[in-house]
Amino acid sequence: MKPAALNPSIVTVVAALRKALHDLKLTSPTPCLDAEVLVMHVCGLDRRHLITRDQMALTGDQQLKLERLLERRKQGEPVAYLIGMREFWSMELYVSPATLIPRPETELLVEKALEQIPLAAECTIADLGTGSGAIALALAKERPRCRVIATDISPMALKVANTNGKISGLTHIEFRVGDWFAPLAGETLDIIVSNPPYVRADDVHLQQGDVRFEPAIALVSGKDGLEAIRRLAENAWKFLRPNGWLMFEHGLDQAGAIEELLHHHGYRDIVFHQDLAGHTRVATCHR
Ligand code: GLN
Repeated sequence: MKPAALNPSIVTVVAALRKALHDLKLTSPTPCLDAEVLVMHVCGLDRRHLITRDQMALTGDQQLKLERLLERRKQGEPVAYLIGMREFWSMELYVSPATLIPRPETELLVEKALEQIPLAAECTIADLGTGSGAIALALAKERPRCRVIATDISPMALKVANTNGKISGLTHIEFRVGDWFAPLAGETLDIIVSNPPYVRADDVHLQQGDVRFEPAIALVSGKDGLEAIRRLAENAWKFLRPNGWLMFEHGLDQAGAIEELLHHHGYRDIVFHQDLAGHTRVATCHR
């Protein structure tokens, strides 16, 4: 007599969600969202399907994959790295631990840049320290006639940006490896944008949550967090055409020091903008 086939335990989507939520409840600040995103990723479903296909059974492979991802999430790894994706400006961007995970507040910088670039403008924009390419891609998408140059000192990061460029199909972006302004020799720019590193080296925040897994080079900028911003302010002037704009993201408590710095270098119309959480987050000024 043939032995009775083992009855593999059937795990449905709804059961997987419940299990994921249970596993992450104590370790993640966003257990519900994480559970949904990880289950959707493993099962290849979108949000709508979580409800309409909640009785669908996971395959053995999917269950195993989910187990592994839950384990890594419990150890603190950011969900964006686990699934290799993060949404920014309604685009799905590929991300890896070589780059910062794009953040919603950085969309404010994109908005402020777009306010200064008419739809039909044919200007040259540089995004310094582009990381995943988020800002450069958003601007290229919204301003098809501009030329966008995206630079990063990290070849690994630039590879990620390049991949995102290819996926987007946008052809008016150039990716160049190098330290800040080094890859821009000979260029005259209309707008320089950047989300530079701006966290103080001793900031306790670096030991908490997702940032622990992000590249320090993209986060930390010397003792006061202002080293990169000082280089930006000092050098942007040489590359901007008269009246060209410099715009960048910065930390919550840096506006005072940055205003002084920009003033010192001769920039005009220095304005600080607040993000949705009410934090002063983006500086804009022009030559
Ligand atoms: N906003 C990020 C954080 O505080 C820092 C990003 C950056 O340094 N550009 O986690």
